[in-house]
Amino acid sequence: MRLLLVEDDVMVASGMKLGLCDAGYTVDWVGSGERAEQALEGDSFDLAIVDIGLPGMDGLELTRRLRARGLAMPVLMLTARDALQDRVQGLDLGADDYMVKPFELPELLARLRALLRRSQAATSAVLGFGPLEMDTAHRRVTLSGQPMELGPREWSVLEYLLIQAPKPAAKDKLLQALTGWDKEITPNAIEVYVSRLRGKLEPAGVALRAIRGFGYRLELKMRAEHGADR
Ligand code: CA
Repeated sequence: MRLLLVEDDVMVASGMKLGLCDAGYTVDWVGSGERAEQALEGDSFDLAIVDIGLPGMDGLELTRRLRARGLAMPVLMLTARDALQDRVQGLDLGADDYMVKPFELPELLARLRALLRRSQAATSAVLGFGPLEMDTAHRRVTLSGQPMELGPREWSVLEYLLIQAPKPAAKDKLLQALTGWDKEITPNAIEVYVSRLRGKLEPAGVALRAIRGFGYRLELKMRAEHGADR
């Protein structure tokens, strides 16, 4: 999941970015509403965290503009001010939720999960496909009931594949789910994670099929085919 963090306070932003990255999110951080608008021109994000108090355009105006442009991603507003008026205005302008600073990281993470769940139109925090189950709230994956060990990037790739399943996931979207602007990663890196995931999934009958020129799709192997592989 890729998040856009719009926050001008360097200390707050770097702390949040650290906590969010630890929780498995890809985070791109900008310090102003103007920079946020530029970022949204070329890149897509699953959610935006927007501080209300920003230099130049404030977070309320940014949110209004995003909605006016038809962007539907969830927006979580941050405010240092305990002003009811800001929160009401923010929600009226199209924000989905807000948090008053200072806040605790676990609460922020829980709210992000709830917002992302709603926007991905899933009913629970658990994503499933055949014998595969991913509990995004507790960061646990099981395959045929057995716990699976996944590195953070394997997790990101598998999460996006599960959200898209049974449709294929586009390779460039997978890449976006993995990288922020500040990390160098080549499209071939996706193949590394895909091949690691294959090694873990295929023994349980879950295939990761390459769709030429597009990306990858999770598939359940037929029983006969599964048997023939042995
Ligand atoms: Ca601020």
